[in-house]
Amino acid sequence: MWAAAAVFALLAGWSAASGRKEGLAFLLPAVLFLPPVAGLFSRRKGMRARGAAVVLAAAAFVLSVPSGAWPAAPAAAPSAREDSSAPASGVSSSGKLRVHFLDVGEGDSEFVELPDGKTMLIDAGNPENGPDIAAYIRKLGHDRIDYLVATHPHSDHIGGMAEAIRSFAVGAVYMPRTSEADTPTTSVYRNLLTAIRDKGLKVSTAKAGVSLFDGGGESAAFVAPNGTDYGDLNQYSAVLLLAYGKNRFLFTGDAGTVSEKEITADVRADVLKVGHHGSGTSTGAAFLKKVSPKYAVIEVGKDNQYGHPAASTLERLRKAGAAVYRTDQLGTVTFTSDGNTVSADKKPAS
Ligand SMILES: [Zn+2]
Repeated sequence: MWAAAAVFALLAGWSAASGRKEGLAFLLPAVLFLPPVAGLFSRRKGMRARGAAVVLAAAAFVLSVPSGAWPAAPAAAPSAREDSSAPASGVSSSGKLRVHFLDVGEGDSEFVELPDGKTMLIDAGNPENGPDIAAYIRKLGHDRIDYLVATHPHSDHIGGMAEAIRSFAVGAVYMPRTSEADTPTTSVYRNLLTAIRDKGLKVSTAKAGVSLFDGGGESAAFVAPNGTDYGDLNQYSAVLLLAYGKNRFLFTGDAGTVSEKEITADVRADVLKVGHHGSGTSTGAAFLKKVSPKYAVIEVGKDNQYGHPAASTLERLRKAGAAVYRTDQLGTVTFTSDGNTVSADKKPAS
């Protein structure tokens, strides 16, 4: 038994070092090690000896792998140490999907608790929102972000992301690829890249057609960006469709009508995170018709300098029959789905 476990550990280590299937690689030895390690505490001498042998073999294996063999930034897999912490969060799966639209003033941040217990953070507000976002996630009982999505590199979306990365174990990171001319040189963006590199994380490109996961009734996939050169960072926004059973959520970042018109995927959704804080150049009538949301959430700051949300957008949402939830009026709003129905923890201000 212990010999088999050691062989699996070697195989797992090899596959991790070569950067594939990190999750599986660490799950296998974890599962295989459990019985023999439990044997350590057994009353039977044979079992204890076997347990000790397995632990020694594992220790020898870990020590034998040169540190350089572990994936390193930036072109590598998520940090081995972070990934090995099996079900890191203390939260058990609830069978419910919860989407928290965090009040970060004039900015975006959505924290998602998936039915299987995994978590996703889409955007992280402004730099000053970082500590509050981290505290909110911790209060929910999580210490891991399985999927981190930066919709686009504007500071009201990636501001608190470096802090989130430094505060939690992080799985996959997704960002859109911007043209060289459009790539920002801001300190907020550089700070994010540094945090990603320091943690040994790899960035996957967010673009239409890329799936984050699909199985067990849960799926998430990007439906935009469809282009590669816009001359406007907002249009690069990663637009994510999250589905659980019959319920669907669409997260649009700051995508405007330019990007909306390029989207060919089925975007029908129960809940729409309204694009670009309710700006008049987002949420076009044709796009809104395709989404036909029951609920529309606008993440927007009180008395912001941009005049968000635009009266024209509010009028389109009203005509479309969507109930509008605004974070400047309600603070953080949480939607819950059991796969059949969606409900919010607050009522929209009339
Ligand atoms: Zn924005």
